Amino acid sequence: MQVHRNHIAGDWVDSPDAAANTNPSDTRDVVGRYARASQAQALDAVAAAAAAQPRWAASTPQQRADALDGIGREIADRQEELADLLAREEGKPLAEARAEVLRASHIFRFFAGEAMRLGGELLPSTRAGLTVEITREPVGVVSIITPWNFPIAIPAWKIAPALAFGNAVVFKPAELVPGSAWALAEIISRAGLPAGTFNLVMGRGRELGDALLGHPGVAAVSFTGSEATGRKVAQACIGRPGPMAKFQLEMGGKNPLVVLDDADLDVAVACAINGAFFSTGQRCTASSRLIVTPGIHDRFVAAMLARLQTLVVGDARDPRTTIGPVVDATQLRQDCDYIDIGRSEGARLAFGGEALGQVAGRPGHYLQPALFVDTDNTMRINREEIFGPVAAVIRARDADEALALANDTAFGLSSGVCTTSLKQAAHFKRHLQAGMVMVNAPTAGVDPHAPFGGRKGSSHGPREQGRYAAEFYTTVKTAYVAA
Ligand code: NAD
Repeated sequence: MQVHRNHIAGDWVDSPDAAANTNPSDTRDVVGRYARASQAQALDAVAAAAAAQPRWAASTPQQRADALDGIGREIADRQEELADLLAREEGKPLAEARAEVLRASHIFRFFAGEAMRLGGELLPSTRAGLTVEITREPVGVVSIITPWNFPIAIPAWKIAPALAFGNAVVFKPAELVPGSAWALAEIISRAGLPAGTFNLVMGRGRELGDALLGHPGVAAVSFTGSEATGRKVAQACIGRPGPMAKFQLEMGGKNPLVVLDDADLDVAVACAINGAFFSTGQRCTASSRLIVTPGIHDRFVAAMLARLQTLVVGDARDPRTTIGPVVDATQLRQDCDYIDIGRSEGARLAFGGEALGQVAGRPGHYLQPALFVDTDNTMRINREEIFGPVAAVIRARDADEALALANDTAFGLSSGVCTTSLKQAAHFKRHLQAGMVMVNAPTAGVDPHAPFGGRKGSSHGPREQGRYAAEFYTTVKTAYVAA
């Protein structure tokens, strides 16, 4: 089987090692073989990016916009093929995979516009005869490290602004999803960027981390992944010799969805089912804690159980499937361990939680979505990120306690409230301690042109996406000019 190679300094290069990528919906199916870069190759990629970056920084906004627009258009033109690859390697149902691919296209095209819009400010000085000019410059070389759960959208929302604002990129995708990353890199490689402006190094994070984080040529690191890895990334960016790297971390979540007595039941159930179980619960914005007040609790649980019966677990590429497999055996084990932990903590498993082994004769990492009830917020299943199709209902005394429980977490990425009261909606919107608040909408599912990020243990550094992305991918220069 052909090995998909890394892209360094404008060339596709062989690596000493390669790994196969398997389909979680059918573990007999090998998606492809992908090179694993050596540390020396990661260093080559950083050096190539450092050499190319000044040329790219000197390109005109129109050149950068055209390149990004072309990438965005090709992604949209190839939506079906890329969605199929994404669903095959990650297990996301086709409808969701299609939406993710389209979103990646929209992100590139949004940042094509942002490349044209980057401006500065002119301030009158407090001192006579001076003016103050404020401009934004590229940061330099950016290492981009991404997780497996959004194989094309997360790389897009980091790579597009990095390139739009004149930076060079070294991109290291997650080990489990090199296929989508390689396809994206191949499109970018034909976009007319100076050789070395964009580099792909696939491989293991712990082996390539030193080069991608510790090299003084790397000016900034944009990371999305687990909190444990995020801490390592932060330490490496600070602890390295020479100047520290600027860093941005998007990490885990334990997102609450509050359902108040006056909620529209159908809306609340639709939000909870989508937020907790779509994408197999493998979203940093998943609603894993469903905090429900007494007047609606029993009706909500009954309606959730009825709705859960209708979900179809199966092959991600089967159009009837609503819940795809878990991404791999390790994640499945983690999900099942947490289901055992929940039971041993006294939570009642009201639905699902069975590993299915196979569906329609296909061996895969299938897990029935699991709903716990009678849980409290001190249980590990309500404190630690599970990252699977597992949600827990917590009964709150009243709206005040629901708000307190929602905020009683180490994380703060997304949060939601279902209510028909304008007053309660405003109150929760103001007091939920999270980067994103959803009112009568699922905690997961965001727009490509709006800022994305969290608080507390979920995020560190400036927001991603939308025009807020410029905070990370540019550095501000203040010039004082005597007339
Ligand atoms: P992970 O932390 O295991 O890996 C993320 C990336 O870091 C991978 O590319 C990995 O190879 C790399 N990596 C691992 N060790 C490294 C090291 N020492 N140095 C440099 N890079 C290293 O996370 P994952 O399992 O791929 O993704 C799941 C996690 O991502 C969950 O915690 C989820 O909440 C989080 N996530 C967060 C967001 C967000 O925006 N907040 C979005 C999606 C996923």
